[in-house]
Amino acid sequence: MLTNAPKGTKDMMPDQAYKWHYIEEAFAEICRIYGFQEIRTPVFEHTELFQRGVGDTTDIVQKEMYSFQDYGKRNITLKPEGTSPVVRAYAEHKLFAGLQPTKFYYNTPCFRYEKPQSGRLREFHQFGIETFGTHDMMADAEIIALASDFLKQMGVTDIELRINSVGCPECRKNHRAALREFLKPKYDELCDTCKDRFDRNPMRILDCKSPVCHELVQGAPMMLDYLCDDCKDAFEQLKANLDAMGIEYVVDPGIVRGLDYYTKTAFEFVTTKIGAQGTVCGGGRYDHLVEEIGGPETPGVGFGLGKERLLLTMEACGVEIPEPVGADVFIAVMGDSAKAAGLKMMHELRQAGVAVQMDIMGRKIKNQFKYADRIQAKKTIVIGDDELANNSVQLKDMATSEQTMVPLDRIVEMLTEQEK
Ligand code: ATP
Ligand code: MG
Repeated sequence: MLTNAPKGTKDMMPDQAYKWHYIEEAFAEICRIYGFQEIRTPVFEHTELFQRGVGDTTDIVQKEMYSFQDYGKRNITLKPEGTSPVVRAYAEHKLFAGLQPTKFYYNTPCFRYEKPQSGRLREFHQFGIETFGTHDMMADAEIIALASDFLKQMGVTDIELRINSVGCPECRKNHRAALREFLKPKYDELCDTCKDRFDRNPMRILDCKSPVCHELVQGAPMMLDYLCDDCKDAFEQLKANLDAMGIEYVVDPGIVRGLDYYTKTAFEFVTTKIGAQGTVCGGGRYDHLVEEIGGPETPGVGFGLGKERLLLTMEACGVEIPEPVGADVFIAVMGDSAKAAGLKMMHELRQAGVAVQMDIMGRKIKNQFKYADRIQAKKTIVIGDDELANNSVQLKDMATSEQTMVPLDRIVEMLTEQEK
């Protein structure tokens, strides 16, 4: 028990961590190119932020949040998603008063009490993007382009961009009425959660994961057929912007998204390569969220991209992430004076940017060589009494087995030159 990580969590071991570095650096770089700046918000927030922000008819708020009361009797929740905290920070720091648009990216852990399975964890990690301050579909197309470029850069193939519009509160009223009309005869068969949603937010029923509800909504009226002129125009503009950049998409009227705050644009990047949890990236527009949590009326649009799912997809696509080089040099020493000389040399080499290892286990010289082999050191330096007496060391290239004698005072210079 004590040696098991909690259900739905994973240690990130070194044989995985370098892959995370790889995608994180690439994501930061593409965000720089697209003009998004990094924001980091706390891992926990007031529970109310998510109740308001994510919406209390969502799965997340109804059954997935890690919430607790702290010793000061505050209701606290580990962030289940990245957008609400960024919106909170945007309002708190009054960024709406500054130059618009505001464009942020984040890289964060998220926590949801879900049934763990492949691509679904209780602690997972997301990249995300948010643009505040504009209604222009240029912004929606821009974040979709960023996600599309990033996925391409990461070697992801066989991924489909699906777009939809979930309308605005105005046109949603008509859709809601039609949807209720459609679902009324089936009401008794709905799951308990959806019975509750029927009154409060019937569109959420379209996204219910229960197979029974899923079956019941087949043939239900779709939001796309109920868009008001403004929402219709916006959707046409979005498609035109994507067309202008040559970004392929399919219109999927079934995309509703798992959070309540979306308006107009909703989209997902979905792959069939990693099984049932195929949504690698999902996002959309949220024109009322800033207001909802107490800021001034400010439009916004963003996405979340699951890092675990991205890595699973990259693996399924056969992408090879280059492993970082371990040791450039291993210094093998015999005797105490050699050890002192080796230690000085290692320190100087490290300060000069060379990755150097030395024995710290008290191993005999033969086992030091074995160890150097095991860690795949590119070069080995041997220092013994004879070498010290001659003020020189042996330098062995492990790949070619070539050995040379090098003056002690030249070694740092030589190795740093070679590394350049
Ligand atoms: P799903 O339909 O898979 O439950 P969602 O609609 O709940 O996804 P979002 O809230 O939009 O997902 O989160 C954005 C992205 O984060 C998802 O597209 C997915 O890649 C990832 N994600 C969401 N939940 C999890 C989880 N429990 N474990 C791992 N990744 C997740
Ligand atoms: Mg979910």
